[in-house]
Amino acid sequence: MIEKTTQSVANLGYHAHIYYDPTKTRAAAERVCAAIEQKFRVENDGFRDEPRGPHPISNVLIVFKPDQFEQVVPYLMLNREGLDVLVHPLTTDAVEDHSGYAIWLGNPVELKLHTLPHGRGGRLPSGVTA
Ligand code: ZN
Repeated sequence: MIEKTTQSVANLGYHAHIYYDPTKTRAAAERVCAAIEQKFRVENDGFRDEPRGPHPISNVLIVFKPDQFEQVVPYLMLNREGLDVLVHPLTTDAVEDHSGYAIWLGNPVELKLHTLPHGRGGRLPSGVTA
């Protein structure tokens, strides 16, 4: 087995993008968000009914801090109402954040990675600065 040398990657937070169909599953996405916002101190950055950036379909963005991962992600694993969810970190490489560093709950959605910078991208949690 070949092991890569581990290198430290600075991560400033996470996004959970909850994908939905505006005509069929928006209500489910709203329920998932309402529950997660009630349970945890996460930030809802809004529902995007139109494709935006690397995301080819509608999604709602939940922003949270690194130390919330262990609460938020296990909760979403069990309470996503069948919706597909991308969880990605916020490092200094937005392309890696959305590909090599990402995890998926449900089925992966093919992202438009060419729209992203090899640098910081995406909203950081409130109170966190790069
Ligand atoms: Zn994001």
